Amino acid sequence: MIALEAKNIHFTYEKKEILTNANIRISEGECVAVTGPSGSGKSTLCYILSGIIPRSIDGMLKGSVKLFGDEIKTLSLAETVKRVGIVFQNPDAQLFSPTVEDEIAFGPENLCVPRQEIESRIVKALGIVDMLEYRHFNPLHLSGGQKQLIAIAASLALEPKALIFDEALSQLDNNSTKLVKSVINKLKGRGIAILMVEHNRENLDIADRIYRLSNGILEEV
Ligand code: ADP
Ligand code: MG
Repeated sequence: MIALEAKNIHFTYEKKEILTNANIRISEGECVAVTGPSGSGKSTLCYILSGIIPRSIDGMLKGSVKLFGDEIKTLSLAETVKRVGIVFQNPDAQLFSPTVEDEIAFGPENLCVPRQEIESRIVKALGIVDMLEYRHFNPLHLSGGQKQLIAIAASLALEPKALIFDEALSQLDNNSTKLVKSVINKLKGRGIAILMVEHNRENLDIADRIYRLSNGILEEV
């Protein structure tokens, strides 16, 4: 099944056109990468595919964005975050709770998931990123790579069927990069659709297909 699909997307912030007739699709269990120069609109594309645009960021958006067959604009915020999650470049900007487990419980609590179910999601999400032993730690005391794993676990606690990584490897050292890449492969193996924005060619080895965005044009390469 096609997990994420954007068709004939035109997007403009104020007057600047960022995307011109962009098309992309990512199937379940597929890892698709997007590369392109800084400022080319890669994050903008991530925001469109996760509904942050137009929900939280203004601009003129035309075209169709579908999550698992449904137009994203017809989905509630709760339905949207159950279908697609996003992990950003800087884990410090995503973590704000006093403990790792609070961080992971935050999303499901907002969706009114029952306490017992949240408990099992904490264990499951931390298990996937192999960080169970850090459950009671303060995220501020973790390394950059460990913080990113917790940010991923926090996204996984909503059990999204698709996950977007917006340059999520770019601030990590080699060892943490390897760990996060292996988590991405694991998620792919579980049928989760992955979109990764990545500027480092060495990290494109885990992608099944690659698109390049430049001067507003998105092309599969
Ligand atoms: P990338 O992720 O490829 O570096 P972005 O999607 O962040 O690119 O940005 C694309 C272009 O849009 C850049 O020129 C940036 O300055 C501009 N831009 C990003 N966010 C906004 C915004 N909220 N309002 C106006 N312009 C923006
Ligand atoms: Mg960006």
